[in-house]
Amino acid sequence: MDKMKAAVFTEPGNIELMEIEKPQVGDRQVLIKIKYCGICGTDMHIYNGVYSKDKLPLVAGHEFSGVIEEVGKEVKAFEIGQRVTGDINLTCGMCFYCRKNQPFMCQEMQQLGIHMDGAFAQYIVLPEDKVFQIPNKMSFEEAALLEPISCVVRSAKSYDIKIGESATIIGDGATALLHVQMAKISGASPIIVIGLDENRMKKAKELGADYVLKSSASNIEQVKELTDGRGADVVIESVGLKVTYEQAFNLVRPGGKIVAFGLSDDSCKIEVKPLDFILKELTMIGSVAGAKNDLADAISLVQHNRFSLDDYKNNIVPLADISSAFERLKTDRSILKILIKIDD
Ligand SMILES: [Zn+2]
Ligand SMILES: [Zn+2]
Repeated sequence: MDKMKAAVFTEPGNIELMEIEKPQVGDRQVLIKIKYCGICGTDMHIYNGVYSKDKLPLVAGHEFSGVIEEVGKEVKAFEIGQRVTGDINLTCGMCFYCRKNQPFMCQEMQQLGIHMDGAFAQYIVLPEDKVFQIPNKMSFEEAALLEPISCVVRSAKSYDIKIGESATIIGDGATALLHVQMAKISGASPIIVIGLDENRMKKAKELGADYVLKSSASNIEQVKELTDGRGADVVIESVGLKVTYEQAFNLVRPGGKIVAFGLSDDSCKIEVKPLDFILKELTMIGSVAGAKNDLADAISLVQHNRFSLDDYKNNIVPLADISSAFERLKTDRSILKILIKIDD
């Protein structure tokens, strides 16, 4: 049996580089040699033991790019040597939800690197229908960012902001700043970001925010002032805490929309008055990730330079140093994203 190098998350706070079995390609699968795999908030949650704890030991990693090294007997659309990324949401494709384009509701769904071994490894296999070729001019570094971008793409499709409507994004994390860029692409005006870290706020402005506000009790008044006294048309919560979710309800205008995006832990509960909800005709939209067509749309947007990604691809760390990369991300807010370089 062939072996490969992989970063195995053995228990919370511990990653071990191991030689494990190289996956074998099935008839309708392709074997992908991984080039880069980004570290995402979800990986941090797995590392910290607050997410997917029951799946350990696990090879995490789901934001990848690579090259096809082998194709199964019945694969029709791909050949060896093609540069690719993939939809990490492995669904049945047949059930009620899959057919309604609600893949995250599929009872069979498993996410690569979250529920099953992922791409902090030299190789993965993926069913042919989940593989996406990347344009020749797109770098492998950029392609490793397509998965998180697909998440904000799907989110934008569901909150469906109208041109000229205001968006307030709560959060200054890497994905929150992708939300900023996505809102700008969608025609939002103005775009307001509420965050904590000075440098991240500066970044937010560079990436399209019109106003940045330091998180505080006066945010409600500030957002009102910036939106002619109304509140935001759309509020995107991209933090995941009780206090920020409750804040979202105070920032949204009557008749507006709240997007639940930030992953909270299982015990998090918020207090909302149903009467406020009713009288203000509020809408709350859940948004978990991106899938198939969202990934295709993300490829188009990145291919045509709609996203500024320089700050997302300037921290590259070899697989051998993955543990220290996770430790650094815990405390160092100056880094937006670390890409793990897997090749050799
Ligand atoms: Zn991710
Ligand atoms: Zn299904």
